This record gives sequence, structure tokens and C-alpha cells, in this order.
Amino acid sequence: MDKYKFVHPFRPIFTAFKRKPMSRSLFETREYPIYFGELGLRALDESLRNQEYSSVFVLVDEHTLDLCWPLLHHHLSSIQEAQILRIPTGEEHKDLDTCSSIWQQLHTQGADRQSLLINLGGGVITDMGGFAAATFKRGIDFIHIPTTLLSQVDASVGGKLGVDFQGSKNQIGVFAHPKAVLIFPEFLKTLSKKQYLSGFAEVVKHGLIADSELWEKCLATPLANPEDLMQLIYTSVRIKYRFVQQDPKDHGARQALNFGHTVGHALESHFLMDEERLSILHGEAVAAGMIVESYLSYRILGLPHEELDQISDFLFALYGAVALRADEAVAILDWMRQDKKNTHGQIRFSLIPSVGSYSIGESCPDDLILAGLNYYIQRAEMQNKKD
Ligand code: NAD
Repeated sequence: MDKYKFVHPFRPIFTAFKRKPMSRSLFETREYPIYFGELGLRALDESLRNQEYSSVFVLVDEHTLDLCWPLLHHHLSSIQEAQILRIPTGEEHKDLDTCSSIWQQLHTQGADRQSLLINLGGGVITDMGGFAAATFKRGIDFIHIPTTLLSQVDASVGGKLGVDFQGSKNQIGVFAHPKAVLIFPEFLKTLSKKQYLSGFAEVVKHGLIADSELWEKCLATPLANPEDLMQLIYTSVRIKYRFVQQDPKDHGARQALNFGHTVGHALESHFLMDEERLSILHGEAVAAGMIVESYLSYRILGLPHEELDQISDFLFALYGAVALRADEAVAILDWMRQDKKNTHGQIRFSLIPSVGSYSIGESCPDDLILAGLNYYIQRAEMQNKKD
């Protein structure tokens, strides 16, 4: 961990921002605007003032109620009359029961088809609030205001909404777009290092599959340069949207975004089921998954060995090693067999032939997947000795 010492990257962002207003305050996608920073916030405020919503609701969890709502309330003069809808924090509440509570609150507080729901929170709030809005009275308008790095660079863009069902992630849901997204970096100030790194893994992924320059930037300034962070977020959002636009329903190119996720999801599920262990965050699992899948890319698609080394060194230095034992590799393989992307009974991967490019739908023999997991475990042991 020494190489990439954690320097809290957020405190100075807003100052830097104020000093030099960001020219990129708006990204107009085909379906909705994505506003960035303080200028973006003002533009959203102006736009809301010109709308005629019958009522405005803001969905929060316990953390975003305390940490983010006061800031938003202070800055968005157009929503001073908004009513708060509150749900409990955490992935374990991303289910139909909580969704039902959102519908109930909307109903009892008089929401109608001209109401607006603003989802203020991480990916749980944007996924579930978006789903609740898209289905309430056959769909009311909603806006995402993501407050974690993960939700800013990933969950709030792309139209996938939904809840978990019977222990499996995102089993019930719809595709629908918000009326707008606001990415406001000031919210990230209160995020823990762990949560920050979880989101940063998706920025790294975007670089690895689509933009070698972004990857170089991640390598050069992984955490310490706040002025660059906004640029990383902006670039990341554009990359994510590019894949979504090419393939909105996830049948082709969009699957490139799953790089690191076939193994990552299996690790997440495996750790979740083991009550003796601390669970791992999504991005931590994806970071480990990107190491294993880079190894598979090296073996199947000829990813240059020096790029494999560079990716592994970087991710181990930043994230440390997931505590995976050699005798658990087969169990991880079993979890991968349940992946939604599998076809014809084969586990499918999105891999990288070189940094900045991708190949989807790659199948891989079981012994090679096990070799990839063992590569990870051995490199992890070396890393632990270094630490
Ligand atoms: P999360 O929403 O659970 O947020 C993580 C934690 O951070 C929560 O405790 C939350 O209350 C807290 N939090 C939120 N904002 C904060 C802030 N500014 N300061 C301090 N704490 C804050 O989780 P997440 O990591 O943001 O998102 C994960 C979810 O996103 C998963 O459910 C995943 O399935 C989903 N996701 C969806 C997509 C998509 O395309 N729809 C993509 C990626 C992930």
C-alpha cells in the first residue's frame, strides 16, 4: 500500500473548482442532461424552476439525509418545498419491501403523475428510487443526484434500475432514464476511503477497456490529485454513456463494462455467504476480478505480459489482496456458473486484448479460470510478504 499512499482527495476539490470554474459543466446525452459541479447545479436549479411539477420528493437513506440533504437544500432554491422520503441504508434493503415503502410514502404524501422524485444517494438509492419512480402510477419523472463515487461514475448513468430478489442482485427491474443527473463533487467529501476506492475501481475499468489515456492518468495520480478527479469522473461518465448508447439493452458492446465483474460478482457472493468473514465492497471485488481477468486476457487474447504486470501491481498496491485461499477456487468457479451473462452453459468473460480495448463473450476452459484464480492467490501472497 506504500506506493499509493492515501491522501484524502476531496477536501480541496471544491476550492479548486471555485477558483477555476469547470468548463465542462454539462454533458448532453441523447436522452437527458448530465450536469457537473457548481455550474451544473445552477443550471439544474434554473431548469427545475421552469418546470411545473405538482410536488417534489427527495429519496434519502440515513447517511444522505444527514450528510447530503442539507447541502442540496442549501444550494437548490427550486426545491425548498420538497418532501423527504426516507429508507434504511444498505444493499440488504434494496428489495421489494423497501420499494413498497417508497410507493407507500409517495401515495400517502399525495404524489400524482406530475410529481418528481429526486434520488439523493449511492447506487442503492438511484437503482431503487429510479425503479420506484418508473413504476409508480406507470411512471413519474425522476432525477438522479448520486453521492458516492461509484454511483457518480457508474450507477447513475445507463438506465438500469431495480432491486435484488431472493438473495440475487438486481433480479427485478426496468430500463428507464432519469430526466437529469447531477454530479456534484462536494458530496464526496464525507465518503470513507473504502467507499471511494470502491468507486475508483470502475474508473480504472473504464480506462482499461476503452481509454489508455485515462488508464495512464489513473496510474499517475490514483488518489492524490483532486483537480484531476473531476476530470476522471467526467471522462468515465462519457465512456460509460458511449457503451450504453451503442447497446442500451446490454446485448452486445455494453457487456464490455463487465470486465472484472464475472470474477468480481462471484467473489462478492462467496464472501457474502460466509458469515465468518467481513464482506467486501463491490469495487474491491471488481479490482480483484480485473487482476484475474487480465490474466485470462493474457492467456487467451495475448494481453502483453508487461501490461498484465502493470495492472496487477497497480491494483494490489491500491486495494491490497482479497483473502482468498487456494481451496476456495472451485467454489468461486461455481459462483461464476450462475452469472447472468453465461450462454449455452458456458461462463462468458469480457476481456482486454490490450489496455484500452475489449472483447466480449469470451469463453474459457475451467482449468484456465482456476489458473487465473491461482495466479491471483500467488501474487497476493507475494504482495502480503512485501507489506
Ligand atoms: P450505496 O448506495 O449502498 O452507498 C454506500 C454507502 O455510502 C451507504 O451506506 C450510503 O448511505 C453511504 N453514502 C452515500 N453517499 C454518501 C456520502 N456522500 N458520504 C458518506 N456516505 C455516503 O452503494 P454504492 O456503492 O453507491 O452503490 C452500489 C449499488 O449500485 C449496488 O446496489 C449496485 O448494484 C448498484 N449499481 C448499479 C449500476 C447500474 O448501472 N444501475 C451500476 C453499478 C452499481
